[in-house]
Amino acid sequence: MEAKLKNESVNRVILEAEHIDFSYDNGYKVFENINLEADTGKFIAIIGPSGIGKSTLLRILGGFLKPDSGKIKLMGKQLYEPTPEVALIHQSIVTFPWMTAEENVMLSMKTKDMSHDEMAEKAKVSLSRVGLEGFEDLYPKEMSGGMRQRVAIARAFAADPHVFLMDEPFAHLDELTAEGLRQDIYNILFSGETPLKSVIMVSHNLTEVLELADEIYILNNMPASIIGRVAVTMQRPRNPRSDEFNSNLDMLYGYLTPPRNKR
Ligand code: ADP
Repeated sequence: MEAKLKNESVNRVILEAEHIDFSYDNGYKVFENINLEADTGKFIAIIGPSGIGKSTLLRILGGFLKPDSGKIKLMGKQLYEPTPEVALIHQSIVTFPWMTAEENVMLSMKTKDMSHDEMAEKAKVSLSRVGLEGFEDLYPKEMSGGMRQRVAIARAFAADPHVFLMDEPFAHLDELTAEGLRQDIYNILFSGETPLKSVIMVSHNLTEVLELADEIYILNNMPASIIGRVAVTMQRPRNPRSDEFNSNLDMLYGYLTPPRNKR
């Protein structure tokens, strides 16, 4: 009984989409009946052809866009608007050039009832979490793209969210930098030292998705729906050159045929 209870709490759903339909104001119907669950401790990836609706789905999951029908639930409660408990990390790396790394991170705490010193201390902890201890006083122009993306992640951490929504977080980094950050990010995210419980990442890079995800949702067709849900069971760290990795890659490519127009 105890083991069962423990298991249930580990698998608890943190963020879920139930029967989501969505059209843009111009009448373009992007989604039909999207269902998705992000459980505790899980790194979820959403893949699909370009223009299929991946960024739109992330915005719906964060409460930034309202579905026409269906529900988004955060820890069982319906989500109607953006909340600090769900942090969206954009593909373009947003740092303010006139602020230091520490000041950039402190921005996410401005709405909280915290003194300047408390915010500065928490910003330092967040920066060290992403490997930027000692770089607190640098300005964005003095940092590499990878460091700026780490600052953006530290800023998201500092608001103590339960869920990270990441929209192509490595897209604007050169390949070597992206690979370095990819190798670190899983351990950073799931260190267990923060309230973060689940991560949902959108990406068009299948290798990246297989390196990181516990579970992959595949979007396809027009309007889009989830055409596949794949659990990735490979041991970490994952080696993109292994046979097992390549056969997983082939399986994912199989899903990404050109979208069928169902209109
Ligand atoms: P993806 O992230 O998979 O590339 P998007 O979510 O950006 O796809 O876009 C999905 C579809 O919705 C695309 O066809 C895009 O042109 C359209 N779209 C995106 N934003 C808007 C908008 N504000 N108004 C109307 N259509 C939009």
